[in-house]
Amino acid sequence: MNGNASTTAKAERLPNASRLAAQWTSIDWNLAEAEVNRLQVRIAKATQEKKWNTVKRLQYLLTHSYHAKLLVVRKVTTNKGKNTPGVDKVLWNTPAQKMNAALSLTDKGYKASPLRRVFIEKKGKKAKRPLGIPTMYDRAMQALYALSLDPVSEVTADHHSFGFRKGRCCQDACEYMFADLARAVSPKWVLEGDIRGCFDNISHDWLVANIPMDKSILKQFLKAGFVFKGELFPTDDGTPQGGVISPILANMALDGMEKVLSDRFHTNRLGKVDLRFKNAHKVNLVRYADDFIVTAATKEIAMEAKENPYLEPEYFTQRQFNHGVKRLSGRFKQVWKNQNGCCYHCGQPMDINEEKDIFFKVPKSKGGKDEVPNMAYVHNHCQFLYTERRSKEL
Ligand SMILES: [Zn+2]
Repeated sequence: MNGNASTTAKAERLPNASRLAAQWTSIDWNLAEAEVNRLQVRIAKATQEKKWNTVKRLQYLLTHSYHAKLLVVRKVTTNKGKNTPGVDKVLWNTPAQKMNAALSLTDKGYKASPLRRVFIEKKGKKAKRPLGIPTMYDRAMQALYALSLDPVSEVTADHHSFGFRKGRCCQDACEYMFADLARAVSPKWVLEGDIRGCFDNISHDWLVANIPMDKSILKQFLKAGFVFKGELFPTDDGTPQGGVISPILANMALDGMEKVLSDRFHTNRLGKVDLRFKNAHKVNLVRYADDFIVTAATKEIAMEAKENPYLEPEYFTQRQFNHGVKRLSGRFKQVWKNQNGCCYHCGQPMDINEEKDIFFKVPKSKGGKDEVPNMAYVHNHCQFLYTERRSKEL
C-alpha cells in the first residue's frame, strides 16, 4: 500500500464515523434496558431499607453506565423535542452523532449551558408562555440523572400523588377521587388548591440540601439560566424548565404534604396512626403535580397506591395493558389486545399514554390498508428505526 499523509488522515476520519454508526446500529436495546432496570430495582430496594450509602454507590454506577448513556441518547433523539436545538444549535440526527454523544456524556467538568428561551403562543390568549430549552447534551445529562433519581423518589413519594410518575396518570387521580367522593359516607368538605407557580418558586438551597443526588451536577441543572435574544438571564429559583428531571424534583419537594396531614389528623398522642381518628376525620390528600384536593377516604380503591413500579413491575405492566383496553376502542383496541400491550417491534410493554399513534406495517403511501392486520403499536424509538430504514429504501 502506498499511503501519503493526507489520504491516511481522510481515510481515518471516514471509518471513524462509519464505525460509530455501525456501533450504534448494532446495540442490543433489550440488554441495555435490562441492565439499567436491574440497577434501578437495586436503588429502589436500598432506598426502602434506608441504606443511603448503597443508594449513592448504585446511583454512581447507573450514571456512569454505558447502557444508561445509550438509553438516554435514544430517548432525547426520538422524543418530541428532537428537532429543537438549544443555545449551541446542536442536534443529534445521524447514528454516528448519537453514538458519539453517548460516548461523550460525562460528569467530569460538567457545566450546563444556559437554556434557550422561546415564547410559545397560548391558545386563545394574548400572553405568550416562555419556555426554556436545554441543549441536547444537557437534556441527555438530565435524563441520565433522572434514571438514578426516579427509583428513590418512587419509594419516598406520597401515596396519592399522581402527576409525572412512572406508571401513574391523571385517570388514576380521577378514579381515586371519584371512589373517595361517590360513597354515602363520603366527606362533605373538599378543599381544592394549587401551589401557585410551584415549579418556578422552589428554593434551590432546599433542593441542593435535600435531593439525594450528586450535588455539583444538581447545581448545574438548577443554575443554568436562560438566554433570550442573545442575553443571559440567571435563574435563582425553581426547577429547570424543559428538562426531564424537573417533575421529579418538584414532586420530591412537594412530597410530605400527606405526612403533615396524617400527623395532624390520623395519629394518636403516641404518634401512631390510629384508624379511629382516620375514619372520624375523613381527611385525605390527592395530588397531581401542583394541584391537590384534600378530602377523606376510608378504603383503598382502584389501585393499591403503595405499589412501586420498580419493585412490582408485573403489576404495572398489567395496569398499563388495562389502561390501553379502557382508552382504546374498535380496531385500535383489537390491535392493542392482539399485541398484549407490547411493542410490535421489540416485544417490550408499552404505555398507551405516551405512545398512542398507530403504525402501519405497510405504509399507506405504498398501498397499505387501514385494517387491523396492517396496524400495530410500536414505541416511538422503535418506530424511528422503521422510518429510518424506509427513508433509506426510497
Ligand atoms: Zn419497542
